[in-house]
Amino acid sequence: MAQNQNPPKYLPFAKPVIDRAAIDEMVACVESGWLTTGPRVQQFESMLAEYFVNTPALALTSATAGLQLALQALDLKPGDEVITTPLTFVATFNTIVQSGAKPVPVDVEPGTFNIDTTKIPAAITPRTRAIVPVHFAGLPVDLDPIYALAKKHGLRVVEDCAHAIGTEYKGKKLGTFGDIQVFSFHPNKNITTGEGGAVTTRDPQIEKSIKTMRFHGIDRDAFNRFAKSGSLHYDVIAPGYKYNMMDIQAALGIHQLPKLDGFISKRLQMATRYRKIFQSFPQIQMQSDPIFAHRHAWHLFCVLIDPKIFGIDRDQFVTEMKSRDIGIGIHYPATHLYSYYQKQFGYKRGDFPSAEYIGDHVVSLPLFPTMNESDQDRVIENMIDVLGLHAKTPISAGAI
Ligand SMILES: *Cc1c(COP(=O)(O)O)cnc(C)c1O
Repeated sequence: MAQNQNPPKYLPFAKPVIDRAAIDEMVACVESGWLTTGPRVQQFESMLAEYFVNTPALALTSATAGLQLALQALDLKPGDEVITTPLTFVATFNTIVQSGAKPVPVDVEPGTFNIDTTKIPAAITPRTRAIVPVHFAGLPVDLDPIYALAKKHGLRVVEDCAHAIGTEYKGKKLGTFGDIQVFSFHPNKNITTGEGGAVTTRDPQIEKSIKTMRFHGIDRDAFNRFAKSGSLHYDVIAPGYKYNMMDIQAALGIHQLPKLDGFISKRLQMATRYRKIFQSFPQIQMQSDPIFAHRHAWHLFCVLIDPKIFGIDRDQFVTEMKSRDIGIGIHYPATHLYSYYQKQFGYKRGDFPSAEYIGDHVVSLPLFPTMNESDQDRVIENMIDVLGLHAKTPISAGAI
């Protein structure tokens, strides 16, 4: 009864789940007087290393910082090329440019929204140095062909795992194998530290470079300024950055990571229900499964709103859903079409048609662990209603 009396509240498309233990830990951290990098970051890093089956994990201020440090560790030169997907957040492209290289997009598969690995060989040139695949929405990219190409051509692989903590490829968690992986703990991502990110790698040289560059280029192996017994002196071996995670952030992470698998189960349950219900609406295009064994981390649930099918374009759909108190995300407009990338590298509309089609029509529906079935019913009913109001032919083959 109480439920019916509550006026419908705005339903966001994403929402972090922070428990009391995390809040208490943050308060304890602040009260302790040690706010920046210290024991809680150390604890969070060892928890991450354990989660990734003894893979070293380096905590940072963001995944963007992680991509930047990982790519800069590859020592790229102007004119070098880095292959990536045009269907990603712009940080993927920006950090490639910041490393001195040119981003070379390769179109995505229309079904999985992930880079089409069969199109990568044609994009490889003598200047290619690395591949940056993005596991879109938490669905793993087909990594075997990518690592085979990397081996054949001597390329590095930096996996943008911003959506994909907990994702599994052929029975193995991303981050437990391969070259370099970058994770995000932004509040919209599957676990959060406010802002934050981490890099995993099994390459000791890359690990050392990121450890040094995330904190002013200070060589801490030689001069451990955090240890009680350590010297206050240190050496600087390169002009580094200020990308160290704070203990205040790690206080959240320590309590988020143990909940990750539960969060993903809840996301899977909701995503499966969306899929099942949308099967009655063949006009609604969704991300499809690849044929290899995998676990989708369901960071996002995406559908495509094509005005040719529904008589309403994507942006109008987003506006109408918002007016009905339902938050909708857009992930992502094709990155190569931003003005900087068109001007600087000459990319244009028509270059990567599958990414452009998805980028023009994609929306992310509300999906987060504390969402319940009645929230989800509200999304579906309003969506069908909005689409049905505009469609020239009825959009339903069945009933909901
Ligand atoms: C969120 C995101 C990033 C950047 O993550 P931050 O932690 O916000 O820096 C990079 N790549 C992709 C694909 C993302 O979704």
